[in-house]
Amino acid sequence: MTARILSGKPIADAIKNEIAEEVSSIETAHGFRPCLAAVRVGADPASEIYVGNKVKAAAQLNIISEHHHLPGETSHEELMSLVKQLNARDDVDGILVQLPLPKHIDERSILEAIDPMKDVDGFHPINVGKLSLGYPSLVPCTPAGVVEILKRSGIEIAGRHAVIVGRSNIVGKPLAMLMLRENATVTICHSKTGDLPSVTNRADILVAAIGRSGFIRGEHIRDGAVVIDVGINRVTDVDAAHEFFSGDDLAKRLNTIAERGSTIVGDVNPKEVMAKAQAFTPVPGGVGLLTVAMLMKNTVTAARLRRNYEL
Ligand code: NDP
Repeated sequence: MTARILSGKPIADAIKNEIAEEVSSIETAHGFRPCLAAVRVGADPASEIYVGNKVKAAAQLNIISEHHHLPGETSHEELMSLVKQLNARDDVDGILVQLPLPKHIDERSILEAIDPMKDVDGFHPINVGKLSLGYPSLVPCTPAGVVEILKRSGIEIAGRHAVIVGRSNIVGKPLAMLMLRENATVTICHSKTGDLPSVTNRADILVAAIGRSGFIRGEHIRDGAVVIDVGINRVTDVDAAHEFFSGDDLAKRLNTIAERGSTIVGDVNPKEVMAKAQAFTPVPGGVGLLTVAMLMKNTVTAARLRRNYEL
C-alpha cells in the first residue's frame, strides 16, 4: 500500500479564503475589521519566524494586526502591563503571546492574565474548561487544524479509534477533547505508556505529537491507518535523512541539509508510514500550515464572541 498524502496547503488555502470572505462581510455589516495583537519578547529566531508568519497571514486576510516586540530584558511587570492594556482596548479582538518567554518571566501568570474572550491560542484555563465541557470556545490552533485536515479530507472520525501519542497542554490533551467531541474513541499515550506499539496498533487514526524525529515507525502503525504527524524537528544528520527518506525525497533532503545545514522532519518515519498507512500528513506541508489558518479563524471567532454575533 502507498499512503495518500494529506497535503495541508489546499486545506489551509480554503480556510483562509473562507475567513477573508467572513472578514469582508463583518466589515460590510458591522463597520469594523477584527484585530490581532501579537506579543513577542526577546530575539528567539524561531519565534521571529512564527510571529512574522502570523502577522503576514493576517494582512493577507484583511485582519488588522499589531506586532509588539519587546526587548529580552523586559520585566514580568512590564509584559503584564502590556497584556492588561491590550485586554482593555476595545479595538483588539485577539491577543497572542508567543512562547517561549524568557526564563525570568512567569509564563503561566501571563497566559492566565489574557482576557479569555481574546485568548486566540485557546490556552487560558477558562477556555480549556469550556473545551472539555463541550461549550463554544476558542480552541488551540494546532489540534483544531488536525480536525480540519481529517474532516476536509473526507476521513470519518465518529466511531473510529483515535490514538494520540503526546499529552501536552497545547497539542495532545486539547486534541483528545476535540476528537471526543467528534465522537471518536480516544486513547492518549505518553512517555510512561507501556508497550506503545500494542496501543498504537489499535488506532484507526494515529496522531504523533511527541517532539522526537521519526519516532513512530512501521511497527507502531496498523495497516490502513490514517497517520497525522504534528511533529516539527530539525535534522542535521545525513544518516538520519537516509533512515527517513528514499528516492527523490532523499535527494531533496540531502540537498537541503547541504545548503541550509538542516531539514525539517516530523515525529513519524515517513518512509515506513508510506508503506503501511492509508493516508498521512507530510512534514513540512501538513499540519503546520493549518496552525496559522486556525489562529486567523480564532481571531474572527473572538471578534464575534465579544460582540455577541452568532458564531
Ligand atoms: P511536548 O514536549 O510538550 O510533549 C511531548 C509529549 O510526547 C509528552 O506528552 C511526552 O510524554 C510524549 N513523549 C515523549 N517521549 C515519548 C515516548 N518515548 N513515548 C511516548 N510518548 C512520548 O511537545 P508538544 O506537544 O509541544 O509538541 C509535540 C511536537 O509537535 C513537537 O515536535 C512540536 O515541535 C510539534 N508542534 C507542532 C506544531 C505545529 O504547528 N505543527 C505546534 C506545536 C507543536 P510525557 O508527558 O510523559 O513527558
